[in-house]
Amino acid sequence: MDPLDVLTNLEKVEPYFQAIFSADEQKVVGYELLGRIQLEDDVHSLGPFFQDESVPEEYKIEVDNDLLKKAIQRIQEEDEDILLFVNRDVNSLMADRGESFLQILFEEKENGFAIERVVMEITEHDYKGDMNQLQHLLTYIQTCGVKIAVANIGKDNSNLERIGQLSPNILKIDLRQLKRSSPSSTFFDVLYSISLLARKIGATLLYEDIEVNHQLHHAWKNGGRYFQGYYLHRPSSQFIDRDLQKEKLRSEFHRFITHEKQRLETLFEHSQQFHLKLTNLLNKYRKHSIDYNELIQLLAHDLTNESFRIYICDEDGFQQSGNVFKGENGWIIQPQYMMKNWSWRPYFLENILNMRVNKRGFFSDLYSDIETGETIRTFSYPINEKHFLFVDVPYAYLFEHDGLL
Ligand code: CA
Repeated sequence: MDPLDVLTNLEKVEPYFQAIFSADEQKVVGYELLGRIQLEDDVHSLGPFFQDESVPEEYKIEVDNDLLKKAIQRIQEEDEDILLFVNRDVNSLMADRGESFLQILFEEKENGFAIERVVMEITEHDYKGDMNQLQHLLTYIQTCGVKIAVANIGKDNSNLERIGQLSPNILKIDLRQLKRSSPSSTFFDVLYSISLLARKIGATLLYEDIEVNHQLHHAWKNGGRYFQGYYLHRPSSQFIDRDLQKEKLRSEFHRFITHEKQRLETLFEHSQQFHLKLTNLLNKYRKHSIDYNELIQLLAHDLTNESFRIYICDEDGFQQSGNVFKGENGWIIQPQYMMKNWSWRPYFLENILNMRVNKRGFFSDLYSDIETGETIRTFSYPINEKHFLFVDVPYAYLFEHDGLL
């Protein structure tokens, strides 16, 4: 498609809308505005036009603004809480300090349009200029009532600290990665980190490019409040019934919830069994007066399938034993770990308190062991008020027991 065709046929440029659904109400909360042009009998996406670097910036802005005006007029027919997500190129936005964009919004405000319905989508890692200036501009745009969504998070070189600095209202993450047969396992860790960041900065997570059921599952599992993608709705020139996917979303959620509850129950049962096993072993050895280094070696012998590392810490995280570690040639004692301190580790002190209050042991989440690189869990167990046992459980054991991975 020739860029000139677009410019000489502005009247044929038409807004298309892709619905965005909410998890809490299972209905349409907004639409992302997309550009299409009707030439002869075909509808063409305006994506290539906007990405074409040979097209002068001012032409793109002209088409963009035309689309925005048309879209605002259209969305006024809809319920007034329906949001309009509008893509803006962050560099051209900075070029005129958002003026042309805001001017259109203020004009439409005169016609009764609520600016608060607009969500401006930008891609942070496209930005080439000074971060503080962008931050100031976005704050100003937010003061005018527009919400900010930072899109394309989790790929290329998005920088979580920079994203946090921009205080967006919405973080938009695409799940295209998950369409591959084997998405990289770090992608899930990135999703998890982003969901924590979103929680910390009070941003809503929107997952897009959801095309199949399991992508929706991941979106739900990773704190997604908004969902978008072909699985739920293909872009169209028409708005849809807000409840169109209510039944589908409810039944999917029901499956996800059932699955997750089963998983948690299984983990809980494993945890109870592990706790019981350690209680029995410790009761057996408590009768003999042995020191902790002897104790962990006896336990290692009993737990040779369940563990590859065992040690004991006090309530402040100082090791009260060495490590007993299972290497290629069997268990060895590593006395150099005596008095090492682990209080700096995430959740360490919370876990100590948890054990002390509940008098129960429990599994940690899955994580990568720093020394072996393996995906493991640690079982923590209160020996008494002051001393706590840590049993690192190897991947092989987790793999063999349903519900631990
Ligand atoms: Ca977008």
